Order: sequence, then C-alpha cells, then structure tokens
Amino acid sequence: MLAARRPIVPVEGMAPQALRDNYTQARGEARHEAIDIMAPRGSKVFAVDDGKLVKLFKSVPGGITAYQFDPQGQLAYYYAHLDRYADGLKEGMELRRGDLVGYVGSSGNASADAPHLHFAVFRLGPGRQWWKGEPVNPYPALRTGGVASPR
Ligand SMILES: [Zn+2]
Repeated sequence: MLAARRPIVPVEGMAPQALRDNYTQARGEARHEAIDIMAPRGSKVFAVDDGKLVKLFKSVPGGITAYQFDPQGQLAYYYAHLDRYADGLKEGMELRRGDLVGYVGSSGNASADAPHLHFAVFRLGPGRQWWKGEPVNPYPALRTGGVASPR
C-alpha cells in the first residue's frame, strides 16, 4: 500500500541509497518502528506524499512533530524531532508531495549533537485517528522511491 503511493525521500539532499533501515532497532523496551534520517540541522523536510496535514503536535519524545494522511486517509506519515515548522504550516491544509513541512532538528528526546528526522508510517484504522495505527516500515518504499524535488 505504501509503495503504491511512491513516497519521496523526505529530507533535502538525501539519496535513497544513503538511507539506513533502522526500523527494527530496539529503543529502550520498544522497537523503533520508524527510520531515522541523519542530516544537518536545518535541512529541509518535505512531504513524502500528497495529503492533508492533520496534526501539529509537540510531545516529550518526538518534540516538534507533524502528522499527515495520504489522500485516501489510509496511511499516516509522522515527522518528528523537527527544529521548527515551515512558515505558514497549518493543521488541515492540503500538502502536495515535496511541500516543505519543516526543518531537521533534535527536538524531543533526540541527542542535540545528532539532529535527524524520525519518520514513521502507520496504517490507519477505521477511526482514522492520527495518533493510532499499525506501523509500517517505510524503508523499502523510500529506498525505491524518488528523491525530493521540491515544488
Ligand atoms: Zn527515531
């Protein structure tokens, strides 16, 4: 389902071949269930797909985060540890693939000397709750997908 969406790599200047699959790594007692894309602080973070920006949320672990749904509302894309949001970003706005979401940082529980984008994908349940879903490893689809070509 995710591969059919043809998501782009969400970080500026990052080639698909340079991604690392750290989806199954342990994080404390839990599995990571996301991939970390290491990048200099301030690197642009792009929407991987078209779809509605459903939630801007600040959490202790994730820091400055954004949740986007795919156009059918079947998948949620989660962008975390942002340094800041893109100017003018608002909940409910429709994003296009390649739109600027924000900038790479280390907000939340990320190490200050290792800024990165924590990127996760969830398959949504029938209630389409932005905070809840079945995790999907985004690595295979990103690895074969395109690079960011910001609009
Ligand atoms: Zn992570």
